[in-house]
Amino acid sequence: MNRRAIVAANWKMNGNSALVDTMVSGLHNISLSDNVDVVICPSFVYLSELAHKLKENSLENTIALGAQNVSDKASGAFTGEVSTDMLQECSVKFVIVGHSERRELYKETSTQVAHKVATVLNAGLTPILCIGESESERATEQTEVVLSSQLQPVIDEIGIEKFKDVVIAYEPVWAIGTGKTASKEMAQETHQFIRQFLAQCDAEIANKVPLLYGGSVNASNCEALFAQADIDGGLIGGASLKVDEFSVICSAA
Ligand code: PEP
Repeated sequence: MNRRAIVAANWKMNGNSALVDTMVSGLHNISLSDNVDVVICPSFVYLSELAHKLKENSLENTIALGAQNVSDKASGAFTGEVSTDMLQECSVKFVIVGHSERRELYKETSTQVAHKVATVLNAGLTPILCIGESESERATEQTEVVLSSQLQPVIDEIGIEKFKDVVIAYEPVWAIGTGKTASKEMAQETHQFIRQFLAQCDAEIANKVPLLYGGSVNASNCEALFAQADIDGGLIGGASLKVDEFSVICSAA
């Protein structure tokens, strides 16, 4: 099965106008294979600036824009929230939903995450749905139970057919920002589980869903991870803030 590969940069609450400039100039001559999509998800504040700079450098068809979060409401009295309409006005195409930091620090539940996935799809945008287990859940062999409990509410909310427009990022929480990457074997085994879980509902759809690995991906480990049969790219945090390293990761996909 030939799925498109995706490398998505999650800048989190990092970066500034200078990084927008450095990244756009640094990625100017990036060599990408034809079936790779590169997505950059800066803070909301820099979306328009990044969109503008990509266009100025004729990179708008090479690098897509993503947001790190979105409201599940359309508009109204929701101070501090950002809607899908607003994201579309900033040329956003992808939205990270349910990142473990949102689940842990802002107490987003899998039900809320499922509503957000539906909202993003209804707006014609592509959700990057993040799922992953904690260190203690891995240690107590709860990984599959946890991943199933994060996926099932989304399947219940949107139906399996709509997964053809969803990207899933498997991000073991213990590997995020820690320098501890899942081994390629462990990552592949877990990705295979995720695909099989979706295949119980619809094998054809399950085969089409891009599954990204996230968790301390860097220039040295990306090639081995991306070579795995069920790993279709990565969601990159820390290493996406360094233009040289991010370029190597994009080229490896
Ligand atoms: C992330 O936050 O999505 C992530 C994968 O971070 P890092 O690459 O820094 O582990």
